[in-house]
Amino acid sequence: MECPYCLSEKILKRGFDSLQDGTLVQRYQCKDCNRRFNERTGTPMARLRTASSVVSYAIKARTEGMGIRAAGRTFGKSHTTIMRWEKRLADQAQNWSPPAPAASDVTVEGDEVYTRVGKNLPPSQSQGWTIHFLERESRYWLTAQAGLKDAQLFANGVYSAWEWVKACDGIRWFTDGERRYGQELWKLANVYLNGEECHPDYGHRKVWREGLEVAMKVKGSQGNRRVEWVKAEHPFTAISLGSEVHANHNEAHNAALRRRCSAYRRRQSLYAKKRSGLQRVLDVQRLIHNWVRPHWGLSKQTTPAMEMGFCSRPLSTLELLTNKGFRYVPC
Ligand SMILES: [Zn+2]
Repeated sequence: MECPYCLSEKILKRGFDSLQDGTLVQRYQCKDCNRRFNERTGTPMARLRTASSVVSYAIKARTEGMGIRAAGRTFGKSHTTIMRWEKRLADQAQNWSPPAPAASDVTVEGDEVYTRVGKNLPPSQSQGWTIHFLERESRYWLTAQAGLKDAQLFANGVYSAWEWVKACDGIRWFTDGERRYGQELWKLANVYLNGEECHPDYGHRKVWREGLEVAMKVKGSQGNRRVEWVKAEHPFTAISLGSEVHANHNEAHNAALRRRCSAYRRRQSLYAKKRSGLQRVLDVQRLIHNWVRPHWGLSKQTTPAMEMGFCSRPLSTLELLTNKGFRYVPC
């Protein structure tokens, strides 16, 4: 045990905090900085008096598709309390989002999904868009951003996906036909070839970073699909077969999102009314998807985070709520 504020190990026990169900939580005081804390400090459960198991069951029900009001009735709380619990976990999403291991080889698929948010606006004016990226082999869900389908949303989504992926040696970046994925990435990941790399026959000087391949699947007017590579690759980058370029896993993932996340299903849902509400439920879904729920497409009892090498067993929802991030969980 160390002080969460100054990291000192000189800790005194200082009585107990009691939770609503009567459980006692040991309280501590730091001898160096004098601040008081308990084992929940710094976790999503900090300063709550509700038992962690109750919050955990509510989050589980919500991430299996229960609506916010139904969850309130089931757990004997108001729906705003359930929302606040979700917000507590969503606020810690960064602590559960390590970047891809350096030198690994990944395929990211980018795609958009839409739900109605608030008033019945045409899709171009709606904040109900989500753009998100999955890693193909592990099914790890690297980022999801909700908002208006505008330049800012693509810039944010691409930036956070690139931050996740950029330490990798081999990167295949495959999306649907939306050109803004490639345009935003080009700003972040282009390089100039120097003399020895630049053979006169190659014909390009400004190319993608070495090891990065960018392609999209474009829907033609007849419904047929063709693959288009975006900008020139580095001369040392191997290029995939056209048949590998797709976002099929991401599309299957969208179907799962509609099933498990009531905000994407009940189109009149009151609490997907704001972009911030949609972002909150997306963050919670993403953490459960990556860390808690074994994925049917992987070997038995394997979560996407295990497949990425971030941990060696599935975590429980309770562990997400009572830890300060993946680094603190014995795993
Ligand atoms: Zn201290």
